[in-house]
Amino acid sequence: MTGSNSIPIPPEVTLNVVSPAPIADAGGAAPGTSFVKSFLNDNPYFQAGFGLMVRKLAFPAPVRVLFSQTLGVGLTVMRQGLVLGTAALRRRMLVTLEINNKDRAYEWFLAWMAHQNVLQARQRTMLTPWSRSHQLSVETTVEQRKNGSSSALFKLVAGPGTHYVKYKGSWMQVKRERETRSMHLMSGTPWETVTLTTLSRDRRLFPELLSEARDLAMRGQEGKLVIHTAWGIEWRPFGQPRQKRPLQSVVLSPGVSENVEKDIKSFLERRIPYRRGYLLHGPPGSGKTSFIQALAGSLSYDICVLNLSERGLADDKLFHLLSNAPERSFVLIEDIDAAFNKRVQTSEDGYQSSVTFSGFLNALDGVASGEERIIFMTTNHVEKLDPALIRPGRVDLMALIDDATPEQARILFDRFYGGNDSAGSNIAGEVEALSRKLGDIVQEEVRDGKRISMAALQGLFIRNEARDAVATCRDLFVVRRT
Ligand code: ADP
Repeated sequence: MTGSNSIPIPPEVTLNVVSPAPIADAGGAAPGTSFVKSFLNDNPYFQAGFGLMVRKLAFPAPVRVLFSQTLGVGLTVMRQGLVLGTAALRRRMLVTLEINNKDRAYEWFLAWMAHQNVLQARQRTMLTPWSRSHQLSVETTVEQRKNGSSSALFKLVAGPGTHYVKYKGSWMQVKRERETRSMHLMSGTPWETVTLTTLSRDRRLFPELLSEARDLAMRGQEGKLVIHTAWGIEWRPFGQPRQKRPLQSVVLSPGVSENVEKDIKSFLERRIPYRRGYLLHGPPGSGKTSFIQALAGSLSYDICVLNLSERGLADDKLFHLLSNAPERSFVLIEDIDAAFNKRVQTSEDGYQSSVTFSGFLNALDGVASGEERIIFMTTNHVEKLDPALIRPGRVDLMALIDDATPEQARILFDRFYGGNDSAGSNIAGEVEALSRKLGDIVQEEVRDGKRISMAALQGLFIRNEARDAVATCRDLFVVRRT
């Protein structure tokens, strides 16, 4: 009867305890300690039983037993009363908010916390940034570019555990917990929750904080291009939002860009809940991807990149992903020929994709959702595509994006070396002459059956002065296999 562990503590009380964890746990920012709880749990009177102490008193044995039992029972009742009283008090005084990782606010909140840290460190405020906490997580975003280079960005966020933040003068306990026994079925990620606890009188701070976190996330995306990738059956933003690329910076042959743009705009204006498919084909490095990204940016659309050979992607998931792409986004499926090249698609490590061609067609056809949908596909080998894929309804507009023409080469050259000629007409005159010479070279090489990609020209211009670029460009022309 005297054992302290026999009294059940309601689960919500343990969860909502605002009493900070030990200092190491709390990152040194913990205000106060839960006195009542530690008193009840740690006090030897309750732990071992008051009866033990009474035994030492000089009463006859039966009196001692009676006395001990009465006191023991009395104290246990008192203890229970105290625990329940504290629980009730906590319930009245504290308010908790639970956000789990199924909700978009989850990411926003963690990013907001990371941002608070940066702010506090920058302003050198007296507040202890929660990064002193002993539990941190790193979120790494790796961006793999087509030319093989990649970059990684690290962000420190609050790890699983207990942290404290001060928001508008009020302390909040932030508890991040990970459910280790069950997983998100599709993405294989563990369920997570963040529980915020603060004083009841500060409950109005929760919506304010969440709006701030949302605005921060939105501000980061404003005027930028967001790329989403598939995470199991969900689309999630990938990496940081990118700077939009101006449409004019992608130099295509006359009319191509305008044609696609006009078609998309008139489709969107019709506002019919239907899909429209575009196929851009042509040699690598001609600007297909860059054009799609620039176009999405100019229309304020996001891009959802779908990799058909991704591990774990099967027909049913593909169907779900295609019919549940975020609003105002293009779905981009690159190198479509590689996915269904009459061979089984395998990745570098020999993994065989389980997306079937008929499953893919089915998913494309099922993309009729409540709103208009735009699907872009790209290929370097249009001739390898199955006619079933490129029939109207699946591909409504095809455009060839080819290697550099003399005009395209000259425009790109002028972009790199031209500009306002305030430095003097000599330089401007020289650039003009070099540009003309480059145009002639491209014309001659093309006549001889050779080609150069816009990507190769861009690389040449980045590495060289105008004169050297023109002098050495012939080396970069290749004979294209058809
Ligand atoms: P693709 O998708 O056709 O393989 P990308 O769009 O990935 O080509 O282009 C690769 C690189 O070359 C990009 O950095 C891009 O800026 C440049 N580039 C390719 N084509 C063009 C173009 N037509 N105009 C401007 N830059 C181009």
